[in-house]
Amino acid sequence: MKGKSHVIKPLLDKEYPTVSHGRGVYLYDIEGKAYLDGCSGAVTTNIGHGVQSVIDAMNEQAKKVSFTYRSQFTSEAAEALATKLASWTPGDLDYVFFVNSGSEATETAMKIAIQYWQEQGRISKNKILSRWMSYHGITLGALSMSGHILRRKRFIPLLEEFPSIEPPYCYRCPFNSTYPSCDLLCANQLEQAIHRIGADNIAAFIAEPIIGASAGAVTPPPYYYQRIKEICERHDILFIADEVMTGNGRTGKPFGIDHWDVVPDLMALGKGMAAGYTPMAAAIASKRIIDVIAAGSQSIMSGHTFSANPQSAAVSLAVMQYIEDNQLIAKSEERGLQLLSGLQTLMQKHDIIGDVRGKGLLCGIEFVKNRTTKETFPLGLGVTERAIEKAKNNGLLIYNASGGIDGQAGDSVIVAPPFVISEEEINELLFILDQSIGELTLELEKEGQL
Ligand code: PMP
Repeated sequence: MKGKSHVIKPLLDKEYPTVSHGRGVYLYDIEGKAYLDGCSGAVTTNIGHGVQSVIDAMNEQAKKVSFTYRSQFTSEAAEALATKLASWTPGDLDYVFFVNSGSEATETAMKIAIQYWQEQGRISKNKILSRWMSYHGITLGALSMSGHILRRKRFIPLLEEFPSIEPPYCYRCPFNSTYPSCDLLCANQLEQAIHRIGADNIAAFIAEPIIGASAGAVTPPPYYYQRIKEICERHDILFIADEVMTGNGRTGKPFGIDHWDVVPDLMALGKGMAAGYTPMAAAIASKRIIDVIAAGSQSIMSGHTFSANPQSAAVSLAVMQYIEDNQLIAKSEERGLQLLSGLQTLMQKHDIIGDVRGKGLLCGIEFVKNRTTKETFPLGLGVTERAIEKAKNNGLLIYNASGGIDGQAGDSVIVAPPFVISEEEINELLFILDQSIGELTLELEKEGQL
């Protein structure tokens, strides 16, 4: 390994800039270079950097107590945060199990789903169904649920074969069909999987309302989740919405699933929950589920040392308060429309953009070698990484969302700035993206790829 650093970074021999500080939607490195954060870190810093009310909440809480363990105490901060979350969530999703990362949140939701059936003596209902082209986390249980080929590959022998149906990927429909004449074949496939595996063996189906890390904001068609929920209900299967990326206002509504007006049985939250100020995540369960466990063994068999720590709870509460006080969910919707229309304009100009999509401030770009045939670039060409690198050199951060499905899905990136981004800053973001995609196109032309 090169150099003196003892930190294991994503690429061991790559040089990373050292951050100096962040203000609003900008990050600065110690050389003084500014980066417009076009992806909120990892779709996390929803309210930008340096918000005073969050810093104050952090300080105040730190003065009170350093840490408490959830088996010994609850805290005012955790109680208030759970109450606030329950006021944001749809239906009776009112009970919050705090954890520290998105992976822990999806695994906890999975365990609660399995326990719910066990409490009722239905112990064979323990499989979780999911989709290909999905991401639910990096720990083994969460990775098992994930249909992210690249991240699974190395660990396949250790994984359960969870993903069982195709994604709602209209741009490249897995069934070669078109909405609405397809009659939602992709959702109906869930019913076929249930028949094959047996409803008596299935605890839940998990899905990201809008597909994030493995495909770049792939947005299912209208009525998709209504159909999914209806199939789940008919077969006594719980529906888990993985809102780790889409939750907490990111898509212009409190939660991604709200775009389909569906109430899931369980939800997983993370990323934007404390907007990156501290690690914070949660599994949220409906009253129906908690009632069954309360009438049974009384305790959910999961938890982590840092679950519900008062520091993260106080910060997350302050973040939610800031979003409410500044109507930032409406801002996410409004700026999202500006961003998406700007990306559509870029698509007119750059032939390597095959598709742009998304909701609110969760937008995706898919790159193609040929827009007419939708031919993808070979994976080995690293088009996603090169697009990201060019943007970074030009002072813009964007997020890698390529799932590594050679030939079946194109190179994709996510553009998802903080909700506090201004109209002018979106224009700046689009300007740098235009320049960077132009440079990438020239390079690919020179290489004979276009
Ligand atoms: N679920 C989804 C939808 C995600 O996007 C992610 C992170 N990209 C996770 C789960 C895992 O979250 P974490 O990295 O915090 O473990």
